[in-house]
Amino acid sequence: MKRFLITLVSVVAMVSGVYFFLHHRDNSTKTIANNEKIQVVTTNSILEDMVHNVGQDRIELYSIVKRGTDPHEYEPQPSDVSAAADADVIFHNGLNLETGGNGWFTKLVETSHKKFGREVFSASEDVEAKHLTTNKDEEDPHAWLDLANGIKYVRTITNVLKQKDPKNASFYQDNADEYIAKLEKLHQQAQSKYLQIPEKQRLLVTSEGAFKYFSEAYHVTPAYIWEINTEAQGTPEQMKAVLSKIKDSDVKHLFVESSVSPKSMDKVAKESGLEIYSKIFTDSLAKKGTDGDTYYSMMKWNIDHIYNGLK
Ligand SMILES: [Zn+2]
Repeated sequence: MKRFLITLVSVVAMVSGVYFFLHHRDNSTKTIANNEKIQVVTTNSILEDMVHNVGQDRIELYSIVKRGTDPHEYEPQPSDVSAAADADVIFHNGLNLETGGNGWFTKLVETSHKKFGREVFSASEDVEAKHLTTNKDEEDPHAWLDLANGIKYVRTITNVLKQKDPKNASFYQDNADEYIAKLEKLHQQAQSKYLQIPEKQRLLVTSEGAFKYFSEAYHVTPAYIWEINTEAQGTPEQMKAVLSKIKDSDVKHLFVESSVSPKSMDKVAKESGLEIYSKIFTDSLAKKGTDGDTYYSMMKWNIDHIYNGLK
């Protein structure tokens, strides 16, 4: 009996040793397996689409803030935390975008034990930041609405992917080159487009002041109800200010962003007697399969609709 027990104990020990060895070996080979795809996480759908254009089917991609919702304010879900924890790379916009809710993104990075500069990269790192007019210390996040900045994002994303996954470096670079050429063409077309419209008509009225970068690149003047989604929206003072800008101009239409409530812009329409021409895209892409569901098509939509509405 005693001998049997000793044998039993050594068999159990051996089996668990083998299990531990296999399990351990599995983990240590994970990062070097040749057919393994890198896990990439993005904070929003615009970055998701840029990363998808570069990485295509050679990466696993997860995006946190769902389409049609606001990335300024967000509460990470359990699935976001586990995707972030498993990620090899996490891209965020930076420039003060993901700072609502007391810095939801910084908290997510901490919870998932990732580090800025090691796994976490800001797609906007090469962009020259503009600042809020209400608070000059704070950066305006909406840099991607100028395609020249969007191209900088794509270059940064490409460099990070190449560095994290060198075996696919030339695949990523080729995709990026092709994608950037397409964005560059749209940028050039947009740059002269609005100059055909009389200057007093070129007032771009939106809910959030998301069009600073866009306005400078494409020669329109931005007007808005509130400056950034993280602040109070549609206060009487804000309404008064935007209505007076409208009055001083020859603007023909208003616009409303797809990712904010149209309530305040409806009020501006009522009080100014102008109609809302169409929705436009700022902080989120449209649902897949609809107009504006890629970065290219959201920019094309904005450029065309803003032009037709101002003209
Ligand atoms: Zn915004």
